[in-house]
Amino acid sequence: MRAVRIHRHGGPEVLQVDEIPAPVPGPGELLVRLRATSVNHRDIWIRRGHPHPAYRVELPAVLGIDVCGEVVEAGPGVEGFEPGDRVTANPYMHCGRCRYCLGGRFQLCPVFTVYSGTYAELFLVPARFAVVVDPSVPDEHVAAFPNTYITAWQMLVGKAAVSPADTVFVWAGTSGLGSAAVEIAKLAGATVIASAGSEEKRDALRRSRADHVLDHHAADLVARVRELTAGEGATVVFEHIGSATWQRSLELAAPGAAVVSAGATSGDDARFDITYMFVKQLRILGSRLGTMTDAVDAARHLSEGRFSPLIGAVLPLERVGEAHTLLEAGRVIGKVIVKPDA
Ligand SMILES: [Zn+2]
Repeated sequence: MRAVRIHRHGGPEVLQVDEIPAPVPGPGELLVRLRATSVNHRDIWIRRGHPHPAYRVELPAVLGIDVCGEVVEAGPGVEGFEPGDRVTANPYMHCGRCRYCLGGRFQLCPVFTVYSGTYAELFLVPARFAVVVDPSVPDEHVAAFPNTYITAWQMLVGKAAVSPADTVFVWAGTSGLGSAAVEIAKLAGATVIASAGSEEKRDALRRSRADHVLDHHAADLVARVRELTAGEGATVVFEHIGSATWQRSLELAAPGAAVVSAGATSGDDARFDITYMFVKQLRILGSRLGTMTDAVDAARHLSEGRFSPLIGAVLPLERVGEAHTLLEAGRVIGKVIVKPDA
C-alpha cells in the first residue's frame, strides 16, 4: 500500500510516497481504509521538527491525525464495529490507567498520545477511540471534523459551558478551529461574533452562521465588540491565536467571562496587562483536544447533518506536500482535505 512518510525533518519536500506493507490489526484495533483526511498545524510542526517533546516522532513517520475511513477488518476482541462501517476517531488517546483517567478526568491524562498515521491508504485505529459516522455525511466533512470540532467542543461545551445567554467571540472564524467554534456556539444557542483578517475571509464568515463579523486587524476591534454587547464585552472568548491576540482577548471580555485557549498559532510568547484579569474576574481556561464524551457528542451532531465544515481545497494523497504549503501560507479559507482518489 502507499503511505506518505517523512524520513527526515524539513520543508514540504520531505513528505515522500513510499510503498510499504499493509498493517495487521492487533487486539482492540481496527484496520481502516482511508477515504479522506485533512492537514493540521500539528502535522507541519512535526514535519519541520518542532523542538517541543509533544511533537517528537520516530522516523520514518506517517503523519495525519484526522480519520475518515472505512473499516476493513476488526482485530481480536473488537466489538461494535463491522467491515464497511464509516468511522472517524478521537485523536486524543488517553491511557485509561493513570490516576486522572481512573477518576474520569481523561483530559488531564499526563501520558496521553495524539493519533498519527492517516497519510496512508490503510492504517490502524484503536477501536476504543473510533466512532461510527452516518454514511450520509460527505467524506470531506468527516475529515475536517476530529481535530477541530472535538477540540472546540471541549473548549466551549466542556470548559466554558456555553449557553444561549452567552456572546462568544471567535478569533479567526474561518480557520479550522474557529469555524468549528462558530458552528458549535450557534448549536448551543449563543450569539457569535467572529473575526477574520481579510475581506475574502469576512465574506465567507458572513455566509456562515456567525451573527456578527469583524476585522481583527481593525484598531477599534475592542470598541466594536463592546458596541455589539451593550458595552459589556463577550462572555466567552475563543482563543487559539496567542501572542497576536491575547491582550485584546482580555480587553474585549465581559466581567466574569471565560477566556478559553487551546493554542497559539501566532506564537506563544504573550505580554498582557494582568489588571484586566483580576478587575474583571476573568476565568482563564486552558484546554487541549477533547475526551471521548466530546467526540461521541459532537459526532452525533455531525451524523445528523448539523455541521458544515468549511472546505478550502481537496488534493490527492500523493500531493499532501502541496496541502501543507497551502495551510502554511494561511490564505486558504477552510480545511485542506487530502483524499486517496481526489
Ligand atoms: Zn491516563
